Amino acid sequence: MSEVKAPAKFRVLVTDRFDDDSFASLIGQPMISPSKAMTPDLVDDHLSQIDALAIRSRTQITKELLERAPNLKIIVTATSGFDHIDLVACAARNVAVMFTPTANAASTCELTWGLLIAASRKLLLASSHAQSSNWRREELMGSQFCGKTLGIIGLGRIGSRMARVARAFGMTTLAHDPYKDDTYFLEHDCARVPLDQIFSTSDVVTCHVPAGAETLHMISRDHLKNAKPGLIFANTSRGSVVSEKCLNEALDQKWISACGLDVFETEPLSMTSGLIGRPNVVLTPHIGATTVEAFKAASQEAADKIIAFAERGMSSDSLP
Ligand code: NAD
Repeated sequence: MSEVKAPAKFRVLVTDRFDDDSFASLIGQPMISPSKAMTPDLVDDHLSQIDALAIRSRTQITKELLERAPNLKIIVTATSGFDHIDLVACAARNVAVMFTPTANAASTCELTWGLLIAASRKLLLASSHAQSSNWRREELMGSQFCGKTLGIIGLGRIGSRMARVARAFGMTTLAHDPYKDDTYFLEHDCARVPLDQIFSTSDVVTCHVPAGAETLHMISRDHLKNAKPGLIFANTSRGSVVSEKCLNEALDQKWISACGLDVFETEPLSMTSGLIGRPNVVLTPHIGATTVEAFKAASQEAADKIIAFAERGMSSDSLP
């Protein structure tokens, strides 16, 4: 009697932090064989065998890595950015690339408001005053959002959430996004304005565009120089949208009054950066998506996409 061979399992390698329940849902699939490799050496050991990679932004997908993974068919990054992946090299190798853009939007929007409120109400200074029994409140005079204008650069998933929350604060909303049509602007109750007007007429400006050649240093020295007096700026998108040199000059010259930043041109931020040690600058180490809820949702969305691919093959929501 001839022996019946079991069909080969779909081998998935998880290379970065991944929620345990989501990993368990991969284990629970009879046609999937998942494993984890948390260091580059271990990843190298698996590359020649695997069909799928589940990654986060720590894992850089380069042409060289793809060459060492001849069976790789799909990469799912449990992130909303994908600038750590060479999409051209993946397309040339016919490797599908998917991401989890909706999982992080709420958490990143909430962090952006946290940074803006911390900057506008001088919360870091206020906390240190309260902890040292310093009750000189005149040093802590802040500004309120109600009645002010929020300028949004990039009216996508996070930008449009920022608009909704801004209206709850009693703010007027302006936005710059050349890729959304007028109906979309109307639906989100935002006036469409060019980028220079975002800076010249808003009290608060927040940036939510993807990284890339088009958005590299899109916020220029002139935008900051012509900012409305007292403007507060937040960036939780990518550090590449504005040069650190321009931001430092804008703060030195008081073209902007304060800022909140979660992302930087170089991460981790250098300890010699001019952004460090300023009382009117609030910095966080790229934690927009660092909540229990976003972490779980992104991991599960990534696991679901891998399972669907293993069952049905090529998916329509692969990145270009
Ligand atoms: P999204 O794709 O939903 O929205 C981006 C918007 O930017 C789109 O509407 C697009 O039309 C617009 N856009 C593109 N080019 C533009 C340009 N030149 N000028 C103006 N608008 C432009 O993305 P999202 O989910 O809202 O995420 C926005 C950014 O936030 C991304 O860079 C993402 O990587 C980043 N992000 C950071 C964190 C974090 O941890 N800090 C977490 C999640 C997302």
